Amino acid sequence: MSPGGPGGKSSLDADKARKAAAHPDRPGQQCRAPAGAFRPVVDRRRCEGKADCVAVCPYAVFEVGPIDEEEYRALPLLSRLKLRAHGKKTAHTPRLDACRACGLCVVACPEKAITLVAVTPT
Ligand code: SF4
Ligand code: SF4
Repeated sequence: MSPGGPGGKSSLDADKARKAAAHPDRPGQQCRAPAGAFRPVVDRRRCEGKADCVAVCPYAVFEVGPIDEEEYRALPLLSRLKLRAHGKKTAHTPRLDACRACGLCVVACPEKAITLVAVTPT
């Protein structure tokens, strides 16, 4: 997989992607999974909206934006305080179906907020 990825989106950071690609704990299928067979799950209690996931995902799965108010209120107090300190921003996954399980987001996230899970066919 090339760090720039398809389309070479401007939000991508080639250095961060290279570092993540070389990470020994990188999970997933190195982009060999069919699109949508895996999906990243963001732990809202950990995410601080730092957008490293946006910077490394070659398939533009992530966007960082305001957390949904209802989700925010459901979080434990400490997580709410942390989120507030970071402008109440969190990672959203509007293009989940594009994920090819490269695993870069998991190792790039400084808060260890992302898990890659296999999608069970229904
Ligand atoms: S999931 Fe991790 S890398 Fe993505 S915005 Fe949240 S803290 Fe940053
Ligand atoms: S594993 Fe993460 S970085 Fe890789 S394609 Fe899926 S969402 Fe994007």
